[in-house]
Amino acid sequence: MYASGGDRLLGGGTNLIDLMRKGVERPSRLIDVTGLSDIIEPGDDGGVTIGAAVRNSAVAAHPLVRERYPVLARAILAGASVQIRNMATVGGNLMQRTRCLYFADAAGSRCNKREPGSGCDAIGGFNRYHAIFGTSPSCIATHPSDMAVALAALDARVHVASEGGVRVIPVVDFHLLPEDHPQRETLLEPGEVIVAVGVPPGQALARSTYRKVRDRASYAFALVSVAAELTVEQGRVAEVRIALGGVAAKPWRASGAEAFLRGKPATAASFAAAADAALDGATPQPGNAFKVELARRTLVAVLSELAEGTR
Ligand code: SF4
Repeated sequence: MYASGGDRLLGGGTNLIDLMRKGVERPSRLIDVTGLSDIIEPGDDGGVTIGAAVRNSAVAAHPLVRERYPVLARAILAGASVQIRNMATVGGNLMQRTRCLYFADAAGSRCNKREPGSGCDAIGGFNRYHAIFGTSPSCIATHPSDMAVALAALDARVHVASEGGVRVIPVVDFHLLPEDHPQRETLLEPGEVIVAVGVPPGQALARSTYRKVRDRASYAFALVSVAAELTVEQGRVAEVRIALGGVAAKPWRASGAEAFLRGKPATAASFAAAADAALDGATPQPGNAFKVELARRTLVAVLSELAEGTR
């Protein structure tokens, strides 16, 4: 959610309040948006519409989501502790800020996202958790959401309202790469607010899952993650959708790998070649070069499991 000037919209507050305590966010006013829709209902297109104020835990537990979109339920369950999932909203999840350590260190670090033009201490610094795609000389931060990665793989759309009406933005386009404006993170304009997320009907015969690789088994942000939906017919890939997390300032849709796989035999060799295509063009930092191979191996494992029906 986004507001004009120094205003900030407050949903569950799980990220915003933390950033206020650290002095990163200093809103002039907080506007309570928990009165937005907290309903999950079948969409007109046969999919599902999820209100912006629905709590993350409610999304993961909803029968429609569990039945039709297991990748989404799994991503949310991988995303945070029960306590945070019970508070965090769908709109707030999409709008959460990067967990770059330097961004959160308002007192001592240079950060172009927090203070445009000041520099970026992550470049040349500790960048184990940072991006390998879509980086710029201004910023190499990642987006921390697991839910958004699953929504990107599902071709979900963000419904945004303002005084001028409602517009619909594909999740894959919603977050911006840093370029020379790392402080601008989404397509939301001042005065606009997320009111819902629409998930289209899933592939009838598809299997889907979410795999998150992190530094420890308890809740941590992703080093890399993979959301994938795969349909295999007569031994060949009929349809596939893949998004990677923990690798860019937005969910990273692996369109090249998808195009490569369609029509190919659903074999380990095909999945390995697709993973090579997915990681082609990565531009890692010295501290996170391991992410390229980690993402490649995770993608091959996920696709192989889906093809074998083990998920
Ligand atoms: Fe700030 Fe981005 Fe650099 Fe992190 S990577 S310090 S968020 S500019």
